[in-house]
Amino acid sequence: MRAVTVHAPGDLRVEEFPTPEPARGEVLVRIVYGGICGSDLHYAQDARNGNYRVLEPLVLGHEVVGVVSDVGADTPAAPPVGTRVAIHPATPSAPAGATGATGLHLQRGGTYLGSASTQPHTQGGFVELLRVGVDRLRVLPDGLPLRRAVLAEPLAVVLHGVSRLGDRVRGARVLVSGAGPIGALAVAALRHAGAEHVTAADLQELPLRVASAVGADATVNLSTGGLPEAEFDVVVEAAGVVPSLVAAIRAVRPGGAILQLGILPAGPQPIPVSELVGKEVALFGTQRFDVELDAAVALLAAEPGLAAVVTDVYEIGDAAAAFARAADSAQSSKTVLAVSPDPDA
Ligand SMILES: [Zn+2]
Repeated sequence: MRAVTVHAPGDLRVEEFPTPEPARGEVLVRIVYGGICGSDLHYAQDARNGNYRVLEPLVLGHEVVGVVSDVGADTPAAPPVGTRVAIHPATPSAPAGATGATGLHLQRGGTYLGSASTQPHTQGGFVELLRVGVDRLRVLPDGLPLRRAVLAEPLAVVLHGVSRLGDRVRGARVLVSGAGPIGALAVAALRHAGAEHVTAADLQELPLRVASAVGADATVNLSTGGLPEAEFDVVVEAAGVVPSLVAAIRAVRPGGAILQLGILPAGPQPIPVSELVGKEVALFGTQRFDVELDAAVALLAAEPGLAAVVTDVYEIGDAAAAFARAADSAQSSKTVLAVSPDPDA
C-alpha cells in the first residue's frame, strides 16, 4: 500500500509499505480522504513543526476519513465492514459521546497521528490502510459525504478553540484574522456559537470568498485595506503569524479577548505586550481538541455549505502537487488527498 512520508526538509515521498493486519480491538480503515494541514506543510517543507522535529521518516496526515475494511479477531464492538468513519487522531482521547471537558489532550505522553511530538514518531494517516483502535472511530451519519467529513478534525480544533472563549462569543462582534481553512471554519463555528457579526481578514481574495460562503458578514483584504482599531469584542488569530497577532492586539477593544488559534513559530516573538495589558485583553491559548470531534461531525452533517472549504482534491500519487497547492493560499483553501476511491462518488 502507498503512504506519504517526509524524510528531510523538502523530501516528501510516496512510498510502498506492507499491508497492515488489525490486532484485537482494532479495525483496518481504508482511508478515502486525507486533509493536508498547515502542520503537514511545515513538516514537508522544514522537517519540523513548531517545537517538533522530524528525526526519522514520518508518515504525515491526521485529518482522515474512510471505510472500515477489516476487523481484528475478538472485536465485537467494531462497526461492520463498509461503515464510513472519521478517525480520532489522538491517544488518549475522550470516548465517543463525551461532552464534558476531560483535559486528556493536555496530558503528557499522548500521541497524535502523523506527529513528531513522540519518540519514536507517531506514524500518520496518509496511507491506504490504517490500523485503528475501535474507540477512535466515529461512525458518520448517513447524508454526510466523506469529502465533507474530512473537515471533522480541523473543525474540532476550531470548536475547541471557540469553547475556550466561553460566553464571550454570543452576541459579539468578532474578527477572524487569517481566512485559510482554519479561519473559514472558525467563521462558521463563531456563527454557530451565536456571534452577532463576523469579519474575516486576509491578504488574498480566495480565502475571503470562502469565508463569505460559510457565513462571514464582512471581509477585509489586508493587501489593500486596513482594520479598525479597538473595535472588536473578540479577535480570533487564525493565520499563525506574528504580524496577525499584532494586528489582533490593535483591533480588539479594551476588555476584549483574543483567541490564538493559529500555531505561532517556536521561541520568543515580538508583540506589544503593554498594549495587551493596558487594554485588559484576555489572551486564550488552545491546543488541538478535547471532546469536540462528535460535535464537529454533527455540525458538518447539519451544514452542507461547509463543503465550500474543500477547494482541491488530488490523487495520493500526486502528493507533491497537492502539497504545493495546499501551500498556495491564493489558490486554495483546504486541499485534500484522495487516497482510495470514494464510495460516495
Ligand atoms: Zn490538522
